[in-house]
Amino acid sequence: MDRLNQLPCALLVTDSTGQIVEINHELLALVGHTAAQWRGHAMAELLTPASRIFLQTHVWPMLLHTGRINEIYLHLSDAAKQQTPVMVNCQKREGDATECYFWVIFVAKERSRYEEELLLARKKAELMSANLAQAHAELKVLHSQLAQHADVIRTENRELADLSRTDALTGLSNRRALETAVNHWRAQSPPDASAALLMVDVDHFKAVNDLHGHGEGDKVLRALADQLHLSMRSSDLAVRYGGEEFVMWLPLADRKGAGQAAQRVHENVRQVQVAGKSITVSIGVATALNTPGTDLIQDLIHHADKAVYQAKATGRNRTVYAD
Ligand code: GH3
Ligand code: MG
Ligand code: MG
Repeated sequence: MDRLNQLPCALLVTDSTGQIVEINHELLALVGHTAAQWRGHAMAELLTPASRIFLQTHVWPMLLHTGRINEIYLHLSDAAKQQTPVMVNCQKREGDATECYFWVIFVAKERSRYEEELLLARKKAELMSANLAQAHAELKVLHSQLAQHADVIRTENRELADLSRTDALTGLSNRRALETAVNHWRAQSPPDASAALLMVDVDHFKAVNDLHGHGEGDKVLRALADQLHLSMRSSDLAVRYGGEEFVMWLPLADRKGAGQAAQRVHENVRQVQVAGKSITVSIGVATALNTPGTDLIQDLIHHADKAVYQAKATGRNRTVYAD
C-alpha cells in the first residue's frame, strides 16, 4: 500500500465486482475520507450519478470483455458533492487468488475547461450563423423590393420617354422624335445614302375650325394622323410638326419612292371628310444624301416648306418637289 501512496497519481484497486480494495492518498485528496473507510465500498460511490451510469453501462462491460480501458472520461464526487473531471485508465491484473483491476486516474480540469470553451464557442457560432441567415433573408427581401422599385422606375422612365417623343393630340411622333430618327439615320448610313422628307399641310384647315368648331378640327387632325400612319412603311416615321402640318420621314426613299408615298397620302386622306366633303393636303417633297457637315434636318424642312408654299400657290391638293 505504501508503494501506491508514493506514486504521483491517483490510484485505485478494485475487484471484478467494482469493490474497492485499495485507494491511495492522491485519490483520497480528491474524494475525501480515509482508505479504511472506502475499502469494501463500491467504486461507483466515488462518482457522480451520471458517471456511475456510464461506469455500469459502458466501462465495466468493456473492461470485463477486453481486460483494459483507456482514456475514459468520468467525474469524481466528494462528500460535499464537489465534482472533479478525471481521465481514467484501467487494466486487469491476475493476482494470486483473485483477479484485480488497477485504475489510474488523472485530473482533467484543463480538458473540461477546453470543452466548456469549445461548447461556448459553438453556441456563439450557432447564434452568429442564425443571425447571418436572418440578415441574409432580410437582404433578399430588400433586394427583391429594390428590384421591384427599379422595375417601376424603368417603366416610368420609358413612359416618360415615350411621352416626350409623342404628340398628345394625334399620338404621332413629335419634332424631338424626328430629330432622333434623322440623327440615327445619319450616324448609321453611308454618305451616298438618300432619304426623303414630306411636309404635309392641310388645305384650308382654318375653314374647318371656323365652320365646324375647334373640336371637329381636332377630330380631323386625328383622322388625318391615322391615314398618314396607314400611308407609310414600317421604316418611316409620321410626325405632327405643327398645328396642321405633318412631316413624313422616309429614311430609305429616293425621289421616286417619296413621290409614291406622297401619292398614297393624297389617296388616303380622301377618307377624312367634313360634312361629306373630303379633306385635301398639299405636300412638299425634299430629298437629300447623307452629306457630312450639313444641317440635314433644317435643310430638308426648309426645302420641303418652300415646296409646300409652291403647292399652295399653284392650286393646293398636289405634290411639289423641292429639286
Ligand atoms: P392653307 O390651305 O393655306 O394651309 O390654309 P389653312 O387654313 O390650312 O392654314 P392656316 O395656317 O391659315 O390655318 C391653320 C389653322 O390650323 C389655324 C389654327 O387655328 C389651326 N390649328 C392649329 N393647331 C390646331 C389644333 O391643334 N386643333 C385645331 N382644331 N386647329 C388647329
Ligand atoms: Mg400650315
Ligand atoms: Mg394649312
